[in-house]
Amino acid sequence: MAAGADRGDRGAAELVLAPGGTIGIVGGGQLGRMTALAAARLGYRCHVFTPERDSPAEQVCGRATVAPFSDEAALDRFAAAIDIATFEFENIPAGALRRVAAAKPVSPRPEILEVSQHRLREKDFLRGIGIATTQYREITGREALPAAAADLGYPCVLKTVRMGYDGKGQVTLRAETPAEEAWRRMGGKLGILEAFVDFACEISVVVARGGDGAVATYPAVENRHVNHILDTTIAPAEIAPQLAAEADATARLIAERLDLVGVLAVEMFVTRDGKLLVNELAPRPHNSGHWTIDACATSQFEQLVRAICGLPLGSTEPHSVAVMKNLIGAEVRDWRKWLDDPTARLHLYGKRDAKPGRKMGHVTRLSPRLSSQR
Ligand code: AMP
Repeated sequence: MAAGADRGDRGAAELVLAPGGTIGIVGGGQLGRMTALAAARLGYRCHVFTPERDSPAEQVCGRATVAPFSDEAALDRFAAAIDIATFEFENIPAGALRRVAAAKPVSPRPEILEVSQHRLREKDFLRGIGIATTQYREITGREALPAAAADLGYPCVLKTVRMGYDGKGQVTLRAETPAEEAWRRMGGKLGILEAFVDFACEISVVVARGGDGAVATYPAVENRHVNHILDTTIAPAEIAPQLAAEADATARLIAERLDLVGVLAVEMFVTRDGKLLVNELAPRPHNSGHWTIDACATSQFEQLVRAICGLPLGSTEPHSVAVMKNLIGAEVRDWRKWLDDPTARLHLYGKRDAKPGRKMGHVTRLSPRLSSQR
C-alpha cells in the first residue's frame, strides 16, 4: 500500500518543467503559500494570482498578480509570465482557469475542478464509477424540499451545490424545520439534499498522480471537525487495515478516472457498520494533508510540484506518527507555547485578522512511528 509510486506500465515521468521555471498558482491562501515554499526548495519560482493584497501566498512568492478573477487582461498577463499553472482554491470561476489554460498548461485539468465545485456533478461522477456516497437528491427550489426530505428521512442535510465549504451553505433539516427557513439559510440557487450519515469517524486520503500515470497515496487519516471546520487530523487513522486499504483503493480509482495530474484529497465517512461513503473531493493539497510536511519524506505540497512538473513522485512513507491541530481564529494567539514543545512544529500563515473560524496556522505534533505501524 501507499509509500512508493506505482508507475503502472507507462514508463518514466516526462519532464514538463525543470527547476528554474515559473509555476503559476491561482489563489493566494495558505495552500498556495505552502506549495510555493515546497516549490522554492526544488528551485522553482512561483507567481501567484490572487484578488487579495498581502495574501499568505503572495508573502512568499517572488511575483504576484493582484486582480479579481474576472479581470481578463490580468489573467492574460499572469499566463504570459508563467510556464505552467495550478490552483489552490476551490471556488475559482471556471472561466478564469480556462482562460489561463488556453495559454499555458494547467494541472489538474480545469474540468476536474468543475466537477468538484458542483456537489451534484461530483456525486453523480462518483456513483458513475461505482463509488458509494450517501443518498442524495437535487433540489431546485424550496417547494421540492418536503417530499425529498420525507423520501430520504430526517435528519438530512441541505447544501448549496456551489461555493460551500467549511460547513457554509449547509443546513441540517429535522422534521420540524420549516422548508422555507432551511432554503433561506442554505442561501444557494440550487441545492443538494443528502441523507444524514451517522458516522463512526471521518477519514481522508490524499492521492498524487503524475502525467505518466504514476500514483502515490498517503495513509488514510482521521479528521475531527468542530463547527464543520477541520480541527484535528490524526495520522494515520486508527482504523482496520482492510478499511484503510479500501480507502486507498478508492482514492486511486478516483484519481485515475479523473485523469488527475496533481494532488487530490478524498474525504470519506466511515459508517457505524464499517462502510465507506465518499463525501467530497478536493483536487488540490488539503488541510488534512498538512501533517505530511513534518511527518513524511515528501509532503503533499512537494508531491504536487513533482506531479505537475513531470518529476518522479516521492515516497509518501511517514517517518513519524502525527497529530495536526488547526489554529482557528483566536487559537493562534497561543502560538508561543508551541515553540516550547519539542514535539511540535508550528506553521503560521501570515494572516493579520484572527477572525472567528479563520484558519490562521496549524501545529503538527510528532511521535516516533513504531515498526508495527504502517
Ligand atoms: P462538507 O462541506 O460536505 O465537507 O461538510 C462539512 C462537514 O459537515 C463534514 O465533514 C461532516 O462533518 C458534516 N457533514 C457533511 N455532510 C454530511 C452528511 N450527509 N451527514 C452527516 N454529516 C455531514
